[in-house]
Amino acid sequence: QLYASIVTALILERDLETFSGRVRVAVRLRPRNDEELEADADFADCVELQPELKRLKLRKNNWDSDTYEFDEVLTEFASQKRVYEVVAKPVVESVLDGYNGTVMAYGQTGTGKTHTLGRLGDEDTSARGIMVRAMEDIIADITPETDSISVSYLQIYMETIQDLLNPANNNIAIVEDPKTGDVSLPGASLAEIRDQQSFMELLRLGEAHRFAANTKMNTESSRSHAILMVHVKKSVLGAEAAFSYENDNPYQSVNNFKPPVIRTGKLFLVDLAGSERIHKSGSEGHTLEEAKSINLSLSALGKCINALAENSAHVPVRDSKLTRLLRDSFGGTARTSLIVTIGPSPRHRAETASTILFGQRAMKVENMLKIKEEFDYKSLSRRLDIQLDKLIAENER
Ligand code: ADP
Ligand code: MG
Repeated sequence: QLYASIVTALILERDLETFSGRVRVAVRLRPRNDEELEADADFADCVELQPELKRLKLRKNNWDSDTYEFDEVLTEFASQKRVYEVVAKPVVESVLDGYNGTVMAYGQTGTGKTHTLGRLGDEDTSARGIMVRAMEDIIADITPETDSISVSYLQIYMETIQDLLNPANNNIAIVEDPKTGDVSLPGASLAEIRDQQSFMELLRLGEAHRFAANTKMNTESSRSHAILMVHVKKSVLGAEAAFSYENDNPYQSVNNFKPPVIRTGKLFLVDLAGSERIHKSGSEGHTLEEAKSINLSLSALGKCINALAENSAHVPVRDSKLTRLLRDSFGGTARTSLIVTIGPSPRHRAETASTILFGQRAMKVENMLKIKEEFDYKSLSRRLDIQLDKLIAENER
């Protein structure tokens, strides 16, 4: 009977709360490159940033501009460290608390998505991007004896999910849990991470496979989406679990009961394909097909974000692989940060404007954050057995 009441108390208590968390959006401006410095020397940048006001002005002509507000406005002088801290760190911390989290970069090719997310910083550690810094924070937080970190690295190209850790694995299926809406990729390689060095090797391997795959398919990395998935599994015991061996009063311990749990946070780091329209100009065999297909994933993402921003009843998540994979990131239970990257060149004003509008709409998306945790049954039954033995011993006395 005691056993049953403990289990009931514990199940009632574990009705986890959810709370609202809007998608946070930062805009980051890339500095002018040499070519832009030279060719556009007589022209002003197409944007003007006011980081203290978190505002960005997009020039319409010489005397007029539109003003937009973002959660963060990162100028061409913002360091990689600062970008990590304002955009990604809060998401990483949530993942360590057992939430799902997503950091995604969106923008035209050449505006700094890969620089922001994927830079390894081999030559200069201050250049390390979000992937490397996130893993450093995760490794520093976990307890190796009870917790684990594992990683999958994927590329979506023309509606096919390829495993960047195992090139033979080039058509991975998405599996959705109909109850929780959680997505998983059981076919993807899952590499256990023990230290930063093994993670760096994995990133390098993934990059090499991505390069080889894209060469074989005769395409560029800017035309595929790269997704790094980090699974963090933490066991929460001890101080947080009040059900201790020392507790003399078993009934008291029922009331204060905090069951041992396993928390699993999933971090998605997403380097999207270039957002520019791909024109039909290419003469290569599959270029038109490719263009349609890439636009399919990105335009499906745009449609989902519009639908969510407008609180529309129908969100077309099922229209593409990318949106199915990101269903928890937009309109789901994850904490999500989006970074939209733009270039300064007045020649790309139209693309810059469309990137800014994408970011503005994403700011309206509300997620319902929820901790992902399960009872740690093994540890629970061990604890209950000890408690029961004690009670029996007391009764016999
Ligand atoms: P994308 O992935 O969006 O196509 P990249 O990250 O490859 O763009 O950036 C294009 C070029 O611009 C690279 O040479 C990169 O090093 C440089 N770059 C991008 N962002 C910055 C930045 N904030 N500061 C300095 N260089 C940058
Ligand atoms: Mg890139």
